[in-house]
Amino acid sequence: MTEKLLDKEVLMNYVNGEWIEANETTDVINPATGESIIKVPLSSQEDVDQAVKAAKAAQKEWALVPAPMRAEVLFEVGRIMKEKKEHLSKLLTMENGKVLEEARGEVQEGIDMAYYMAGEGRRLFGQTTNAELKDKFAMSVRAPIGVVGLITPWNFPIAIATWKSFPAIVAGNAVVWKPATETPLMANELMKIFIEAGLPKGVLNVVFGSGGTVGDALVNHKDIRVISFTGSNDTGRRIAAKCGEQLKKVSLEMGGKNAVTVMDDADLELAAEGIVWSAFGTSGQRCTACSRVIVHEAVKEDLEQLILKKIKELKIGNGLHDDVKVGPIINKAGLEKIKSYIKIGKDEGAKLIAGGNELTGDEYAAGLYFEPTVFTDATIDMRISQEEIFGPVVSLIPVRSFEEAIEVNNSVEYGLSSSIFTRDVNKVFKAQRDLDTGIVYVNAGTTGAEIHLPFGGTKGTGNGHRDSGVQALDVFTEWKAVYVDYSGKLQRAQIDVE
Ligand code: NAP
Repeated sequence: MTEKLLDKEVLMNYVNGEWIEANETTDVINPATGESIIKVPLSSQEDVDQAVKAAKAAQKEWALVPAPMRAEVLFEVGRIMKEKKEHLSKLLTMENGKVLEEARGEVQEGIDMAYYMAGEGRRLFGQTTNAELKDKFAMSVRAPIGVVGLITPWNFPIAIATWKSFPAIVAGNAVVWKPATETPLMANELMKIFIEAGLPKGVLNVVFGSGGTVGDALVNHKDIRVISFTGSNDTGRRIAAKCGEQLKKVSLEMGGKNAVTVMDDADLELAAEGIVWSAFGTSGQRCTACSRVIVHEAVKEDLEQLILKKIKELKIGNGLHDDVKVGPIINKAGLEKIKSYIKIGKDEGAKLIAGGNELTGDEYAAGLYFEPTVFTDATIDMRISQEEIFGPVVSLIPVRSFEEAIEVNNSVEYGLSSSIFTRDVNKVFKAQRDLDTGIVYVNAGTTGAEIHLPFGGTKGTGNGHRDSGVQALDVFTEWKAVYVDYSGKLQRAQIDVE
């Protein structure tokens, strides 16, 4: 499988239109098999400096290309991604572990984003408005910012990259991108696609390497005007502090502790299906994964039984096999973290009703696998109800009313995604108003964002920016107010008003 899908053994950085060999590399491990699939550069600060220099030079010209023409490159990127969808999806499963069906969904998200942001090339709307003085015209326009630094995580290695790079590029910026070291194949493929699509040299540069070196160099580089980061809260906070010192614009998309609420009037079969998909898809390693179920006590036992039944149908294994529904955990550290939370949950007094173990032996021996796990009778003060576990672990928290459910949902530091299952239209509208997350689903799980809507969270999940949707353009553009006075005399605002 490895030989057929990959045409080289060592990846290279792509800077100023050239592939550049690295002095130092590390192995990329397929988490399903434990095999090394390729080597990825561990670049240095000097490599970042070169990439930023190239981006700075390229950006000036790129910003002068009319936006509809910049967008033509994205249309072409979308077309090529569509053509290569199956190949990309298989590589994605190999480096990340998510099952092929989900990998295809993620690649499709990138394709959708390409066409959507290409469309923005003919919009990028500003506003015209009335001036307060005669013979004067006023408008606001979006202006590119310059060189932007993108830092992306391993759990959605292509979708998140497209959420960030496509709006940045269509808006007239140049990009230096540091992908997660665990998942460099998607970055390599996307770069190749951009080259084939005709992107001028220097507009997109990929520098592989560790967060501590390459990521940090981007964050601290004086010529990088914007950092767009997706990843953990610890890293995001550190990046935000450094950007703050430099007055650098920073967009942060971080963790979640997402809940599905199930009311006593819900379609329980549907709710259980939504919970299992949201909690165990991508082995629970989605920022929007459902890790809490807030359930009305009247239906708690029935819901538990339905969830347990559905879990039994989940085949765990290598995501390249068609019948597998839950793939591996990304790395040993992730697995150890999940195991530690099983102990924490038990010690806190939650009742373990499914899973709780690493899978070993036979087909699981070489990879990193964990059973879909369910705790019940959890309370909101428990750490398993508050902290991001980032694995296939969900905790049921019983409540007595709709009001209590909303309170429990909102009582975590995160605010990414939430969902409610109910047939009561009044509860639906109250929930969408009162759930304090950036994304709210009704009668669906906590995952499944569409790219033309804003993606991001409130409170500890982010810092007020959004990836995807037209709102993504706000990260990569400055608003410029333009006044044109055609009166032929000096008219003073606020003073010469009739
Ligand atoms: P992470 O450890 O914070 O890493 C994210 C990225 O930051 C990687 O590219 C990493 O590089 C880099 N990085 C690490 N330390 C850095 C530093 N000091 N300076 C600059 N960059 C640095 O997060 P992760 O474990 O990969 O991703 C999982 C987290 O992402 C979860 O918390 C999840 O909820 C969150 N997430 C959020 C969203 C959202 O939109 N809200 C979406 C997806 C994931 P290396 O790993 O290569 O060293």
